[in-house]
Amino acid sequence: MKKVLVLEDESSIRSFIVINLRRAGYEVIEAESGEEALEKLKTHGDTRVALLDVMLPGIDGFEVCRRIRATNSRIGIIMLTARSQEMDKVTGLMTGADDYVTKPFSPAELTARVDALMRRSGGGNDDNSAEISQPPFLLNTRNRTLEKDGQRIKLTQVEYAIVKMFMENPGKALSREEILDLVWGRDYFGELKIVDVNIRRLRLKIEDNATNPMYITTVWGYGYKWGA
Ligand code: CA
Repeated sequence: MKKVLVLEDESSIRSFIVINLRRAGYEVIEAESGEEALEKLKTHGDTRVALLDVMLPGIDGFEVCRRIRATNSRIGIIMLTARSQEMDKVTGLMTGADDYVTKPFSPAELTARVDALMRRSGGGNDDNSAEISQPPFLLNTRNRTLEKDGQRIKLTQVEYAIVKMFMENPGKALSREEILDLVWGRDYFGELKIVDVNIRRLRLKIEDNATNPMYITTVWGYGYKWGA
Protein backbone atom coordinates (compact mmCIF):
# COMPACT_ATOMS: atom_id res chain seq x y z
CA MET A 1 0.00 0.00 0.00
CA LYS A 2 1.61 3.24 -1.16
CA LYS A 3 -0.61 5.95 0.25
CA VAL A 4 0.18 9.68 -0.03
CA LEU A 5 -1.69 12.61 1.50
CA VAL A 6 -1.75 15.86 -0.48
CA LEU A 7 -2.64 19.04 1.43
CA GLU A 8 -3.01 22.05 -0.87
CA ASP A 9 -5.75 24.66 -0.81
CA GLU A 10 -5.41 25.72 -4.46
CA SER A 11 -7.46 23.19 -6.37
CA SER A 12 -5.57 23.56 -9.68
CA ILE A 13 -2.22 22.81 -8.03
CA ARG A 14 -3.75 20.01 -5.97
CA SER A 15 -5.22 18.32 -9.06
CA PHE A 16 -1.89 18.62 -10.85
CA ILE A 17 -0.12 16.88 -7.96
CA VAL A 18 -2.81 14.26 -7.49
CA ILE A 19 -2.93 13.33 -11.20
CA ASN A 20 0.83 12.93 -11.36
CA LEU A 21 1.09 10.86 -8.18
CA ARG A 22 -1.74 8.58 -9.33
CA ARG A 23 0.02 8.19 -12.67
CA ALA A 24 3.14 7.15 -10.71
CA GLY A 25 1.14 4.42 -8.98
CA TYR A 26 0.27 6.05 -5.66
CA GLU A 27 -3.02 6.01 -3.85
CA VAL A 28 -3.73 9.65 -3.04
CA ILE A 29 -5.76 11.20 -0.21
CA GLU A 30 -6.66 14.87 -0.75
CA ALA A 31 -7.18 17.66 1.75
CA GLU A 32 -7.72 21.37 1.20
CA SER A 33 -7.19 22.54 4.78
CA GLY A 34 -4.85 21.60 7.58
CA GLU A 35 -7.77 20.57 9.76
CA GLU A 36 -9.07 18.26 7.03
CA ALA A 37 -5.59 16.76 6.53
CA LEU A 38 -5.24 15.90 10.24
CA GLU A 39 -8.72 14.41 10.24
CA LYS A 40 -8.02 12.27 7.17
CA LEU A 41 -4.73 11.03 8.57
CA LYS A 42 -6.64 9.63 11.54
CA THR A 43 -8.72 7.43 9.26
CA HIS A 44 -5.79 6.66 6.93
CA GLY A 45 -3.17 5.65 9.49
CA ASP A 46 -1.23 3.73 6.84
CA THR A 47 -0.36 6.91 4.91
CA ARG A 48 3.38 6.83 4.34
CA VAL A 49 4.12 10.27 2.88
CA ALA A 50 2.39 13.64 3.36
CA LEU A 51 2.85 16.66 1.06
CA LEU A 52 2.00 19.82 2.99
CA ASP A 53 1.52 23.23 1.43
CA VAL A 54 2.81 25.97 3.74
CA MET A 55 0.42 28.86 2.96
CA LEU A 56 -3.11 27.83 3.90
CA PRO A 57 -6.20 29.46 5.31
CA GLY A 58 -6.64 28.27 8.92
CA ILE A 59 -3.67 26.47 10.45
CA ASP A 60 -0.60 26.64 8.21
CA GLY A 61 1.51 23.79 6.88
CA PHE A 62 4.14 24.13 9.61
CA GLU A 63 1.53 23.71 12.32
CA VAL A 64 0.10 20.69 10.52
CA CYS A 65 3.62 19.24 10.34
CA ARG A 66 4.16 19.86 14.06
CA ARG A 67 0.87 18.18 14.97
CA ILE A 68 1.57 15.16 12.77
CA ARG A 69 5.04 14.74 14.25
CA ALA A 70 3.69 14.94 17.79
CA THR A 71 2.23 11.48 17.31
CA ASN A 72 3.88 10.05 14.19
CA SER A 73 7.63 9.91 13.60
CA ARG A 74 7.48 7.34 10.80
CA ILE A 75 5.51 9.20 8.12
CA GLY A 76 7.58 11.05 5.50
CA ILE A 77 6.76 14.76 5.26
CA ILE A 78 7.50 17.05 2.30
CA MET A 79 6.71 20.77 2.52
CA LEU A 80 5.54 22.63 -0.59
CA THR A 81 7.02 26.12 -0.49
CA ALA A 82 7.01 29.13 -2.79
CA ARG A 83 10.29 30.41 -4.16
CA SER A 84 9.97 33.57 -2.07
CA GLN A 85 9.80 31.58 1.17
CA GLU A 86 13.49 30.72 1.42
CA MET A 87 13.49 30.88 5.23
CA ASP A 88 10.36 28.75 5.43
CA LYS A 89 12.27 25.77 4.12
CA VAL A 90 14.49 25.79 7.15
CA THR A 91 11.57 26.44 9.51
CA GLY A 92 9.69 23.55 7.95
CA LEU A 93 12.56 21.15 8.34
CA MET A 94 13.06 22.24 11.93
CA THR A 95 9.41 21.51 12.71
CA GLY A 96 9.97 17.93 11.59
CA ALA A 97 9.62 17.82 7.79
CA ASP A 98 11.99 15.54 5.90
CA ASP A 99 12.17 17.52 2.70
CA TYR A 100 10.73 20.44 0.79
CA VAL A 101 9.85 21.10 -2.84
CA THR A 102 9.82 24.62 -4.26
CA LYS A 103 6.95 25.71 -6.49
CA PRO A 104 6.81 25.53 -9.43
CA PHE A 105 8.06 21.95 -9.64
CA SER A 106 7.99 19.36 -12.40
CA PRO A 107 6.02 16.11 -12.02
CA ALA A 108 9.30 14.17 -12.33
CA GLU A 109 10.88 16.12 -9.50
CA LEU A 110 7.90 15.66 -7.23
CA THR A 111 7.55 11.92 -7.79
CA ALA A 112 11.32 11.44 -7.33
CA ARG A 113 11.07 13.10 -3.92
CA VAL A 114 8.05 11.04 -2.92
CA ASP A 115 9.72 7.82 -4.17
CA ALA A 116 12.81 8.59 -2.10
CA LEU A 117 10.82 9.08 1.12
CA MET A 118 8.63 6.10 0.36
CA ARG A 119 11.69 3.84 0.18
CA ARG A 120 12.83 5.19 3.52
CA SER A 121 9.51 4.78 5.31
CA GLY A 122 9.04 1.29 3.89
CA GLY A 123 11.61 -0.33 6.15
CA GLY A 124 11.81 -4.09 6.40
CA ASN A 125 14.81 -4.54 4.12
CA ASP A 126 17.49 -4.38 6.78
CA ASP A 127 19.59 -7.48 7.21
CA ASN A 128 19.64 -9.68 10.28
CA SER A 129 22.50 -8.00 12.10
CA ALA A 130 19.94 -6.22 14.19
CA GLU A 131 22.07 -4.04 16.45
CA ILE A 132 24.93 -1.60 16.12
CA SER A 133 26.33 -0.67 19.50
CA GLN A 134 28.58 2.37 19.87
CA PRO A 135 28.21 3.59 23.44
CA PRO A 136 26.32 5.58 24.47
CA PHE A 137 24.30 4.71 21.35
CA LEU A 138 22.51 1.52 20.43
CA LEU A 139 20.88 1.32 17.00
CA ASN A 140 18.38 -1.45 16.38
CA THR A 141 18.02 -1.92 12.62
CA ARG A 142 15.13 -4.33 12.94
CA ASN A 143 12.94 -1.95 14.94
CA ARG A 144 14.64 1.10 13.39
CA THR A 145 15.14 2.64 16.81
CA LEU A 146 17.97 4.52 18.50
CA GLU A 147 18.76 4.55 22.20
CA LYS A 148 21.20 6.78 24.01
CA ASP A 149 22.16 5.54 27.48
CA GLY A 150 19.17 3.23 27.30
CA GLN A 151 16.72 6.06 26.53
CA ARG A 152 14.79 5.91 23.28
CA ILE A 153 15.33 8.91 20.98
CA LYS A 154 12.44 9.58 18.61
CA LEU A 155 13.76 9.95 15.06
CA THR A 156 12.14 10.63 11.71
CA GLN A 157 12.95 8.13 8.96
CA VAL A 158 15.50 10.48 7.41
CA GLU A 159 17.18 11.09 10.77
CA TYR A 160 17.30 7.34 11.34
CA ALA A 161 18.92 6.84 7.93
CA ILE A 162 21.54 9.50 8.73
CA VAL A 163 22.41 7.96 12.11
CA LYS A 164 22.65 4.50 10.55
CA MET A 165 24.95 5.82 7.83
CA PHE A 166 27.20 7.43 10.46
CA MET A 167 27.28 4.36 12.70
CA GLU A 168 28.25 2.21 9.72
CA ASN A 169 31.10 4.62 8.95
CA PRO A 170 32.59 5.55 12.34
CA GLY A 171 35.43 8.06 12.25
CA LYS A 172 35.17 8.54 8.49
CA ALA A 173 34.78 12.05 7.08
CA LEU A 174 31.76 11.98 4.78
CA SER A 175 31.25 14.78 2.27
CA ARG A 176 27.84 16.43 2.06
CA GLU A 177 27.47 15.01 -1.48
CA GLU A 178 28.18 11.49 -0.19
CA ILE A 179 25.65 11.92 2.60
CA LEU A 180 23.03 13.15 0.12
CA ASP A 181 23.72 10.10 -2.09
CA LEU A 182 23.70 7.62 0.78
CA VAL A 183 20.62 8.92 2.57
CA TRP A 184 18.47 10.45 -0.15
CA GLY A 185 19.63 8.30 -3.08
CA ARG A 186 21.63 8.98 -6.21
CA ASP A 187 18.68 9.99 -8.33
CA TYR A 188 17.74 12.71 -5.84
CA PHE A 189 17.22 16.24 -7.10
CA GLY A 190 17.61 18.10 -3.84
CA GLU A 191 20.04 20.68 -2.56
CA LEU A 192 23.01 20.08 -0.27
CA LYS A 193 21.50 22.45 2.28
CA ILE A 194 19.00 19.77 3.24
CA VAL A 195 21.90 17.73 4.65
CA ASP A 196 22.94 20.58 6.96
CA VAL A 197 19.41 21.27 8.16
CA ASN A 198 18.70 17.63 8.96
CA ILE A 199 21.99 17.30 10.78
CA ARG A 200 21.31 20.45 12.78
CA ARG A 201 17.98 18.96 13.90
CA LEU A 202 19.55 15.59 14.62
CA ARG A 203 22.19 17.21 16.81
CA LEU A 204 19.45 18.75 18.95
CA LYS A 205 18.17 15.24 19.59
CA ILE A 206 21.35 13.25 20.15
CA GLU A 207 24.09 15.62 21.34
CA ASP A 208 24.61 16.52 25.00
CA ASN A 209 25.20 20.07 23.80
CA ALA A 210 24.13 20.76 20.22
CA THR A 211 26.21 23.94 19.98
CA ASN A 212 29.34 21.96 20.83
CA PRO A 213 28.67 18.62 19.11
CA MET A 214 30.88 15.66 19.96
CA TYR A 215 29.12 12.85 18.08
CA ILE A 216 28.39 14.45 14.72
CA THR A 217 31.35 16.72 14.17
CA THR A 218 31.77 19.20 11.32
CA VAL A 219 34.61 18.71 8.86
CA TRP A 220 34.97 22.28 7.66
CA GLY A 221 34.48 22.87 3.95
CA TYR A 222 33.74 19.18 3.43
CA GLY A 223 31.05 17.51 5.47
CA TYR A 224 30.60 15.57 8.70
CA LYS A 225 32.16 12.82 10.75
CA TRP A 226 30.75 10.41 13.34
CA GLY A 227 32.90 10.60 16.43
CA ALA A 228 31.03 8.46 18.97
CA1 CA B 1 -1.57 27.63 -0.59
